[in-house]
Amino acid sequence: MDYKSAFRAAVDQVRDEGRYRVFADLKRHRGDFPVATWTRQDGTTRDVTVWCSNDYLGQGQNPVVLAAMHEAIDSAGSGSGGTRNISGTTRYHVELEAELADLHGKEASLLFTSGYVANEAALSTLYKVLPGLIIFSDALNHASMIAGIRNGGGARHIFRHNDLEHLESLLAAAPVDAPKLVAFESVYSMDGDIADLAATIALARKYGALTYLDEVHAVGLYGPRGGGVAERDGVMADIDIIEGTLGKAYGVMGGYIAGDADLIDAIRSHASGFIFTTSLPPALAAGASASIRWLKDHDEVRQQHQERAAALKARFKAAGLPVMPSASHIVPVLVGNPVHCKLISDLLLSDHGVYVQPINYPTVPRGTERLRFTPTPFHTDEMMEHLVTAMNDLWTRCNVKRHGVAA
Ligand SMILES: *Cc1c(COP(=O)(O)O)cnc(C)c1O
Repeated sequence: MDYKSAFRAAVDQVRDEGRYRVFADLKRHRGDFPVATWTRQDGTTRDVTVWCSNDYLGQGQNPVVLAAMHEAIDSAGSGSGGTRNISGTTRYHVELEAELADLHGKEASLLFTSGYVANEAALSTLYKVLPGLIIFSDALNHASMIAGIRNGGGARHIFRHNDLEHLESLLAAAPVDAPKLVAFESVYSMDGDIADLAATIALARKYGALTYLDEVHAVGLYGPRGGGVAERDGVMADIDIIEGTLGKAYGVMGGYIAGDADLIDAIRSHASGFIFTTSLPPALAAGASASIRWLKDHDEVRQQHQERAAALKARFKAAGLPVMPSASHIVPVLVGNPVHCKLISDLLLSDHGVYVQPINYPTVPRGTERLRFTPTPFHTDEMMEHLVTAMNDLWTRCNVKRHGVAA
């Protein structure tokens, strides 16, 4: 067996499809968010402005978060030293789970090493603890939810994105007494659209189904205390399982679910992806707790965040750039061609010091390739001015379409 050529062929396939990924090598400057130093492949460097980070509020550099992390390292050391069951449950983990349960107004929460692991473990385990479970999953759900649903191995139905009529027809066709669960997201991160939570909950109730909501792109960002879109919409108590990350708006790392105590205890007792892995380092748990607590009390940061997103959308529109409709803080601009998308992204970085990653197939459908901007409260008017000028220049240079954005 020629293993080497097999590996090369696997990469060539991705390259031929124009999907080969080159990572930007960045080092952020603490205290100077969103500036970072980019190291080129030849080893030379330049400072750039990061426009595509999911550290949506700059919490990764909040002195309150950093102080909590330093304190935890100095008083408890680096790693947790074990799985949650075998010496890896520390004071920091217990406090963080209480903080999360409080954030979502739930009886309990359960920590995982990432949001991906939380979705995979929780959804696959629900099939085990609810024999005969049927999961109804939105077509645009994140890869981690799809992985959990596939790995669970039970019955599943995919409904067209945010199409509640389609969801209802699938729910109505399923056996009345089968356990059911509707799995969906609040903010969909590539289009920036937001699901109708109240209507989805009502439908699930009508057919006796549980609801599982991924609020990864909403926790910290929506609701008076950062509890997510469900908090904003006043329906947090009606969602059975809320899943979130500590790695995006909270600026640290880790994932979790929150819900009823019995449900959480069942997942805790059966989920392989929870049981058989070393728990998060105390410093991450401490940083996440500090970040959640701080954002509960700083709603003005959420207002600033929304204002910055609206300002960028307005500037792009005024410049005749095809900003896509988005109900959230995410600002996608349509390019509609993978080669142009990659080229514009490369030129923004090399010629203008603007870092925004191209979003191509299979992350989004072919023909809808785009640049996805995530302005934070730290992106100034001057940075926006510079960005829009650079985009305008490249749009003309590359002769990319300016209008005709599909709704
Ligand atoms: C990023 C993401 C996750 C995974 O969260 P991590 O903490 O990064 O592993 C889950 N769901 C959605 C919708 C995401 O975008």
